[in-house]
Amino acid sequence: HEDPSFWKDHNVQVIIRVRPLSTAEISVQGYGKCVRQESCQTIAWTGHPESRFTFDIVADENVSQEQLFKVAGLPMVDNCMIGYNSCMFAYGQTGSGKTHTMLGDIEGGTGRHSVNCGMTPRVFGYLFSRIQKEKEAGRDEKLKFICKCSFLEIYNEQILDLLDPSSNNLQIREDIKKGVYVENLKEVEVTSARDVIQQLIQGAANRKVAATNMNHASSRSHSVFTCIIESKRECQGVAHHRFARLNLVDLAGSERQKSSGAEGERLKEATNINKSLSTLGLVIMNLVNMSNGKSLHVPYRDSKLTFLLQDSLGGNSKTTIIANISPSSCCSLETLSTLKFAQRAKFI
Ligand code: ADP
Ligand code: MG
Repeated sequence: HEDPSFWKDHNVQVIIRVRPLSTAEISVQGYGKCVRQESCQTIAWTGHPESRFTFDIVADENVSQEQLFKVAGLPMVDNCMIGYNSCMFAYGQTGSGKTHTMLGDIEGGTGRHSVNCGMTPRVFGYLFSRIQKEKEAGRDEKLKFICKCSFLEIYNEQILDLLDPSSNNLQIREDIKKGVYVENLKEVEVTSARDVIQQLIQGAANRKVAATNMNHASSRSHSVFTCIIESKRECQGVAHHRFARLNLVDLAGSERQKSSGAEGERLKEATNINKSLSTLGLVIMNLVNMSNGKSLHVPYRDSKLTFLLQDSLGGNSKTTIIANISPSSCCSLETLSTLKFAQRAKFI
């Protein structure tokens, strides 16, 4: 799977990750499954009619956090080190493994990684090791890296700062110089993976409190962790300045949000989730189209999520979607719907 040409032809990569059956699923359905892996890139949905899907990578339950990082996280960091933006999204129904994939075990995970430590801490471990190597390699140059991170949640089309929960309903602004940004969002300078993990733990705790205060499950909000990597290089008196953004997004659960019977706030919430996930799907479809030389009108502004990430989706930016699924026959229809979303994102 460690293919150096990961990004060669396309700016969008779609990965399916199948998690193991849970004990709850086994107790309801036995070992009944709704999918069968056929190769490293092909998976069959075994309902009626049986359907086959092909992706860049299909990672079965035996693919470890470390292996997944190597195929998807590592090239993303390499891409940021040469000055391009990257986005990674975890998509899937609640309970399919999005948070396990993006964060995994982070508590206490300061030094060496535990087996279950997820994508984000590994990405930053690698990022800071790359920065260290660059500094050592360019000993004679004046080389400086500044990394700043932010962590926010989008719930019901409102932005909440997870690093400063006293600020909510933040606004997205656009500026010729700064591009698209969130006004008054807290940015914290980080100099090690340990610093990043501290912010992740803080943000995750604030997310729980926010969900309780606003009376919703955190599965109904998107969380966006962003790091801006700024590098300044002075070469023979000439200064080179580079910025890259790395965005890691744990999306709201993709299960169909019921709008029938819902009223008021619940109805608004359901509509917002469905809309932001479908807008994201459209935006990603268009990125694939652009790689093929075509372009559609893309409604970036139809959702806060895509508006916010506009500068990181398109151009030379790289996008990875990890679509998480449960293999259990009790999740058959949701799993099919995730496979279809992921397929649409890649081929049209
Ligand atoms: P989501 O964030 O999509 O709601 P979670 O990441 O919380 O789902 O996963 C649900 C449960 O399944 C958690 O207990 C998690 O530890 C477990 N899990 C998910 N993916 C895997 C995996 N690849 N290997 C082992 N356990 C997993
Ligand atoms: Mg989750």
